Amino acid sequence: MRQPVIAGNWKMYKTVKESLEYLSNFQAEVKNEGVETVLCAPFLALSALTEKAEGSGIGIGAQNMHWEQEGAYTGEISPTMLKAVNVSYVIVGHSERRTYFSETDEQVRLKTKSALDHDLIPIVCVGETLEERENGNTQEVVHQQVVEAIQGLRSKEVSRLILAYEPVWAIGTGRSATEKDAGDVIQWIRKIVADQYDQQVANEVRILYGGSVKPANIDSFLSNQDIDGALVGGASLDPDTFTQLVKAAS
Ligand code: 13P
Repeated sequence: MRQPVIAGNWKMYKTVKESLEYLSNFQAEVKNEGVETVLCAPFLALSALTEKAEGSGIGIGAQNMHWEQEGAYTGEISPTMLKAVNVSYVIVGHSERRTYFSETDEQVRLKTKSALDHDLIPIVCVGETLEERENGNTQEVVHQQVVEAIQGLRSKEVSRLILAYEPVWAIGTGRSATEKDAGDVIQWIRKIVADQYDQQVANEVRILYGGSVKPANIDSFLSNQDIDGALVGGASLDPDTFTQLVKAAS
């Protein structure tokens, strides 16, 4: 049985103060829901959030990191720095990073491996653009992104990571994929993992859907047995709304 995961990606929202206020409200509402609950916050808020969330069962994640432990990389944050403030997850390869910051599949692979080596759980994002979907290339694009991201990992490492299928056209647009479309691609991703590793690894790895998830559509996604939860942007910014999503998965 794969435990469901509901992860919020706050993107570039919330100061440290706003983050702590959010967590106070959220902690008051969410208690032991049997759902792996994660908040991926801006770097500056991570330390304060992990301190406040300690013992609550709410995991704190970063939204990016460099793969090296340290070095002359101005403006970057390393896995060691994240671990030092008790961060447990990190989003890797989000489409906004791929699009606006030119992140490549090779960098996604390095970050994924480095996260695992430093005992962080990477949430590895893949997904096609609208043009790629309309040209019938969804499977090919997702195949390349998944294969490159997990290349060279050991089976045990693949079982530990989390994949997120986030079609680019569904992110922040209000236009979510249908449960069937999302389920079909996620089933495809599971098949890719089975082909690269084996069926057991494919059965163990958690695969989330992301893209305009909200209280009105979360139930349909979770009703699909291949979809293990959601990576949520806009609807994670308000603690009451995000609580509804966590409760829907419990
Ligand atoms: P929205 O939920 O705002 O569409 O964003 C999805 C996303 O990018 C999560 O990583």
